[in-house]
Amino acid sequence: MADLFKNIGPYLSNSNTMPVLFLGHGSPMNALEENEFVQNFRKLAKDLPTPSSILCISAHWYTRGTFITAMERPKTIHDFYGFPKELYDIDYPANGNPDLAKEVKELLQPVYSEETNEWGLDHGTWSLLKHMYPMADIPVIQMSIDGTKPASYHYELAKQLQSLRNKGVLIIGSGNIVHNLGMVDFQNMQKEDYGFDWAREARNNINRLIVDKNHQPLLDYKNLSSVVQMTVPTPDHYLPLIYTLALQRKTENAWLFNDKMLGGSLSMTSTVIV
Ligand code: ZN
Repeated sequence: MADLFKNIGPYLSNSNTMPVLFLGHGSPMNALEENEFVQNFRKLAKDLPTPSSILCISAHWYTRGTFITAMERPKTIHDFYGFPKELYDIDYPANGNPDLAKEVKELLQPVYSEETNEWGLDHGTWSLLKHMYPMADIPVIQMSIDGTKPASYHYELAKQLQSLRNKGVLIIGSGNIVHNLGMVDFQNMQKEDYGFDWAREARNNINRLIVDKNHQPLLDYKNLSSVVQMTVPTPDHYLPLIYTLALQRKTENAWLFNDKMLGGSLSMTSTVIV
């Protein structure tokens, strides 16, 4: 990570454009726990220009159609079961930004999207922002992922949001690139950088394509390899990455961090595009 900051520092200071992030959020417990992943989220936030607002595309708001949170004060949603009470007690009291929601809706046209006062901030958003912006003093909106559409559709849709980067909006895709919950070895969750061979192979393959800015095979991920089919058994945690990559400009690079495996079949790999 020290290298990451050494590398991206000059790009950050020379850029008039807000970087774009994909963050591997992992377990909701990361909101409470102290570990290298959350430490890196905090360090990263310190290095970024202060955003005017945040737009998060979270794996956990997976819908039919596209929705945008448009309330003044989004509620903190505890969208998980069986975790300790402290996790349900967390409130992330950031304001929303109804004007930004309206602007996003306009940018997405001719694709129809809907501003909504339902939803709020789910743990794909607040478990990260609690570390990055603990004061909750930056307005946050979420945009949902239309689960009926393929990756290529999301890639084109995300491109329509490009102008927000010039207005100081920090766009974050929040998911996990390798995410097979059914195969997780829960006995070995604490084991450092523990990944099954097939999960590691898929991770390496995907990482290479990200760094090489070779996005087409990532859109066609179902045909990438048999191991990728195992690491992306459902698209919900993968598609936020596609939103992030779509916003990469030709001169920008994707820098990886938190590139570790967990429980055999999960990765925490995250990327900063600047
Ligand atoms: Zn998740």
